[in-house]
Amino acid sequence: MFDGASRQVTKPASTRVAMFGGTYDPVHIGHLRSAVELREALMLDHVHMVPAHVPPHRNDPAISGQSRLEMLRLGIGDTPGLIADDRELSRNGPSYSVDTLACLREAYGDGACLIMAVGHDAFLKLAQWHRPERLFELANLVVIDRPGHTGALPHELVDLIRERMVETPEALMASPAGRVLRMALSTALPISATDIRARCRRGESIRYLVPDAVASYLEVSGAYRE
Ligand code: ATP
Repeated sequence: MFDGASRQVTKPASTRVAMFGGTYDPVHIGHLRSAVELREALMLDHVHMVPAHVPPHRNDPAISGQSRLEMLRLGIGDTPGLIADDRELSRNGPSYSVDTLACLREAYGDGACLIMAVGHDAFLKLAQWHRPERLFELANLVVIDRPGHTGALPHELVDLIRERMVETPEALMASPAGRVLRMALSTALPISATDIRARCRRGESIRYLVPDAVASYLEVSGAYRE
């Protein structure tokens, strides 16, 4: 596994962009540190953080897409290179990553290195996603280690990633799409949105689990408190 703390030194010639999709219900510092470290370790120009409108593989989000997007914007603030991307919220129907990647591929062109970043828990379900083979025609995959989420890979996933695994960012970037890199963060954080929603419901503090601006937004709006 690639250790995200070891950086590349030479500035890449082509554009490098990642899509980091999620429910962001709400965004927390586990998401944001992952995006920052991913960008630094792989020298990415941009990380598009894309809240799902209707996530296809899980329960509907607890609050509206607009509120999740607003918190994502607040959470990102002026962090260089991170983008709160509303393209899935403005599409009707299920938010398939394959459609979002196709949209980004069109925007950045065939020469760009396009990456789909997912946490390890999301990766374990990848074989059930919509058109998983197509994902690999459009992008490379970076799997971010997530504390507390381990476990054996399902058979279909093993088949899907066979011949695709690489060990270094250089090997990943040598192809515009189709390769898989596992990455360890230097600040892995066992934080989840599920836990944050539960704390809000119980009236407990969520300070320092989310950016201050997000904590204030949640306090004022009363979201997740029922
Ligand atoms: P929930 O608890 O509601 O399932 P979540 O905290 O897992 O939410 P999501 O919005 O579902 O957050 O996750 C978006 C992406 O971020 C997924 O790929 C997920 O694996 C990843 N991710 C979430 N939390 C972390 C974390 N603490 N560290 C690394 N990756 C994370």
